[in-house]
Amino acid sequence: MKPGTILSEVQLNAALKSVHKEFSDLGIWNPKVKTYHANVYLCNIPRINSVGFFMHDIGVKEYLLGYERGSIYIPSVVLDTVFWINCYTLRDVVRHEYAHAFAHYYRRLIMRSAEFKKVFGGQYISYNPSEMEDDSYLTSYAKSMPMEDFAETFMVYVRRKGVLPKKYTNKKLILKWKFIVKVIKAIKTSSKINLGSSEFKVPTKKAIVKKNFQMKSFFKKVVNLKSFN
Ligand SMILES: [Zn+2]
Repeated sequence: MKPGTILSEVQLNAALKSVHKEFSDLGIWNPKVKTYHANVYLCNIPRINSVGFFMHDIGVKEYLLGYERGSIYIPSVVLDTVFWINCYTLRDVVRHEYAHAFAHYYRRLIMRSAEFKKVFGGQYISYNPSEMEDDSYLTSYAKSMPMEDFAETFMVYVRRKGVLPKKYTNKKLILKWKFIVKVIKAIKTSSKINLGSSEFKVPTKKAIVKKNFQMKSFFKKVVNLKSFN
């Protein structure tokens, strides 16, 4: 993704479709998976230094702006302050944001698990970087905080279809990878669906486009006037 790019609904939906297919191949994509119900918004509020974000919790300001807890947001404009984004594809961004969604909807398994803290060197919500050797991180962004380390590891796991390239031999990194393996297995087991016939197809999930994001949601939620559409 290049800074200054304007992202279209078609592009985002194409990326979602291909990442959902990857989830489906991993056995974690059907209506019984809690994350399946998370909304994905293409929105036109750019965020400094961000190409996507997930709302674990919302404050008053976010509430007034119309943000929803537990949703993924992909800004339609990538600011040129996001210099590092050149190394990411839109699909990577989607994979990464879904990692936060999985952590949010499977709190006990991910966010609040004692193992998470041990493996990623800190609580999921902690703003201090974990201090480990460089080769225990898959990307440089992973070094920023434990939750980002988790999301980056999950992103690479999904992209590589669960196969860790041989060049990665760091023991701590392997433990992080194994944590993802375990989490995916647990989600898969807990959401097993009886397909019945091979004709069963998981309904497609598409992005919701927020037009005039701020004002529309603001009036809808706070003033609740029908005339403001
Ligand atoms: Zn993140």
